[in-house]
Amino acid sequence: MTEIDITPDDQKVFDRLNSTGRITHKLKQLMTKQWNICSLCSRATTVGRPNFAGYDSNGVPLLVGACCADNLVELASPTYPGVTSTLNITVEDSQPLWRYMDFAKFVAMLIQKGLYFPRVDKLDDPFEAATGLARREKEWDDYYLEFFRDVVVSPVPGYASPDLSPEEREKEAQRLLREFKATSLVHRSKLVSCWHANTGESEALWRLYCPPGTAGLAIRTKAGTLWDATVNERSAVVGRVHYIDFRKGYAGINERVFCKRLSLSHESEVRAVIASDPSDTSGGRIVSCNLGMVIECVVVSPFAPVWFASTVAEVIAKFGFAFEVRSSELLEAPFY
Ligand SMILES: [Zn+2]
Repeated sequence: MTEIDITPDDQKVFDRLNSTGRITHKLKQLMTKQWNICSLCSRATTVGRPNFAGYDSNGVPLLVGACCADNLVELASPTYPGVTSTLNITVEDSQPLWRYMDFAKFVAMLIQKGLYFPRVDKLDDPFEAATGLARREKEWDDYYLEFFRDVVVSPVPGYASPDLSPEEREKEAQRLLREFKATSLVHRSKLVSCWHANTGESEALWRLYCPPGTAGLAIRTKAGTLWDATVNERSAVVGRVHYIDFRKGYAGINERVFCKRLSLSHESEVRAVIASDPSDTSGGRIVSCNLGMVIECVVVSPFAPVWFASTVAEVIAKFGFAFEVRSSELLEAPFY
């Protein structure tokens, strides 16, 4: 695990400003998109050193290194890219995103006037928000146990090293490991809206989600629009999924909901993630949004029967929307 490294320049910022913890949707968006890049001078922060997320005197969100921290009048939170967040999930606002679905799901969406976010532990993939392969759990535990053994005897600045017997040290390290693993379970209760990043259509995904003999469609949006659609969700994060070879690695500590198995890399997924209410056992929630803004166009499956396109257009109109309905680019004729 990379160590945190606070330089005198960083310390000056901490001495001047206390963290308020006030992270607005716009600031969260900036923190996700900039990750380790200063939003004022575009300098990348050295791993281990903090970035400072907060606001300037006009309330404009900033994510800056010590280089530009003089512009901050409020520090919301420091971030440690590469340490406490190990994955850069940044995705361009202009990235086109697709959702392939059957007609029933599409109609449900029009009725609900929003996007349904299921809990990740209700999805098919048992590796959702997993740390790694069960057969490699001990290896992971041993690594973090060693880390916590150091932590429990490391002095807090200004204080002497804690005086612990070897047994106390071991017991304390074991306790921290247990707590660490328990808190990671919270990621399994997060809610997600899953999308496929691609500039055009994918025949593979048409076959997977709308196979021949069914009537399906795809809707298209952009990553920046997903941020806008979740503006009322303070916890919302839109990011790119990383595909991990779990034979060799583990999911990122705080971004495991953005980690999936390498065998799913064809999904090229971007997802919007929101926190769930722990007391809610319903398995998901609708996030109301302006579908007229979210859905750029509707593409009818190339495998759907010919009558289907006009039915889709009629149903859209009945619900008061005016989405453009297109036929699939897969149906375009070749020349030889
Ligand atoms: Zn800077």
